[in-house]
Amino acid sequence: AFLDYFNLMQRRRAAFAQSSLTMQDSLKNSRAFVYGLGASGMASVRLLIGQGAQVSIIDQRGRSELTTVLDSLGNGIELITEADALGRVKQADLLVVSPGVPLSNPAIQNARAVGVPIWGEVELAYRFLPPSDQRILIGITGTNGKSTTTALTGELFRQSGKKTFVGGNLGRPLSEVAGAQAQAEGKSYEVYIVELSSYQLEGMVSVRLNVAALLNLTPDHLDRYPSIEAYGEAKKRIFNNQRNSDFAVVNAEDGRVMSLSQGIAAAVHTFSKSTQSDRLSVSNPALRGPHNLENALAAATIAQLCGVDDASIQRGLATYPGLPHRLESVGIFRDIEWINDSKATNVDSALTALRSFSKNVWWMAGGKGKGASYAPLVAAAEGRVKGVLTLGQDAPAIEAAFRGKLPVYACSTLRGAVDKASQVAQPGDVVLLSPACASFDQFQNFEDRGDQFKRLVTGLAR
Ligand code: ADP
Repeated sequence: AFLDYFNLMQRRRAAFAQSSLTMQDSLKNSRAFVYGLGASGMASVRLLIGQGAQVSIIDQRGRSELTTVLDSLGNGIELITEADALGRVKQADLLVVSPGVPLSNPAIQNARAVGVPIWGEVELAYRFLPPSDQRILIGITGTNGKSTTTALTGELFRQSGKKTFVGGNLGRPLSEVAGAQAQAEGKSYEVYIVELSSYQLEGMVSVRLNVAALLNLTPDHLDRYPSIEAYGEAKKRIFNNQRNSDFAVVNAEDGRVMSLSQGIAAAVHTFSKSTQSDRLSVSNPALRGPHNLENALAAATIAQLCGVDDASIQRGLATYPGLPHRLESVGIFRDIEWINDSKATNVDSALTALRSFSKNVWWMAGGKGKGASYAPLVAAAEGRVKGVLTLGQDAPAIEAAFRGKLPVYACSTLRGAVDKASQVAQPGDVVLLSPACASFDQFQNFEDRGDQFKRLVTGLAR
């Protein structure tokens, strides 16, 4: 048994030497486990198969639920239950963990205890990117604005003519474009821009980002982290492995972010919306509001540090199409603009949305509440909002908060709210769906809610 253990350790050591050249050879015939078969898990499995690894998947779902996806991955892939995984992982050469699986999971602990390398999907992909002198790798994190800043940064680089990949937590996993096979298929880029959640950051071991951006940090995910400090520590990992020739881009107005970036190896570059609001001209309606000015400053700072010229930056800021469900303009009909901000599933996000308009807003809110007080919204609505249209489970609480302050229309459903808004709104007004609540009481998810809103609104226009 001792000899078996020794041989296993030897093999692991050989397999996971840092050099990516060694990596290419060494995953061949290795036993790789992938925990969690979501989008990033699928991409990891494909990459591992491409490298000749023998892949086992751990998932809480059974074979019957996963038949289609397993079939799409081809033969020779083993599915293991979570219970069996507790013992089996000890035999692994490598365990790739999906962001949805906490590292405190017992099977992961068991694997760690016997020295199995535990990687997130980004770590796996990183080892198979083109050599570091042939590409730039940019990571973006924060509590809010990750997706917007990532997509926008991508737009700025594309405008400058760079072959650019945008993905990570947003859109396509990095593993989809890593590895010799992807590169042979033309999926090779000069610039890789990845959105990184704190869960993905936890799975990064050796990843070195040429530019790492930390946008902001507010209490969030405290179901998974014991404290804001622990959450901050996870975010701070974005600066790990950076050298003094690399860059950190941070928000000067966020005290937590500033203290986390103290003493890191990378050169720190700050942005600040109050002192630099004149640095960029942002008139793009897809980038409304002070929060988007921060996202734009972050994106522009990253691009500038990588040598993107100012003209491309200005062009990109102008052409950026925006992301669906985030202050997304559905259209202007009879001089009334309809805006879908279904992504605003909490009070903070709805506040951000309201602050992006100065006046004449008909605001639709309600859904599955999260227990936060609606009082801050009352203050923000004053002077901006002409009337509140409520829907969903938490409508009574919102109505109670606004009673006697602003006109409130109880509409129950999204359709009711759209009908009501079309009756009360005047030319020059804005109708804003920014619910401050989750969607699960009446919809599949926030995307479904936003899509239904868009269909109702375009239906009105016909
Ligand atoms: P993430 O990917 O971090 O969730 P998004 O770009 O998808 O961020 O934006 C989600 C929501 O977060 C937006 O609808 C908006 O309410 C809010 N938001 C976006 N950018 C910022 C920012 N820089 N600061 C604070 N809140 C923001």
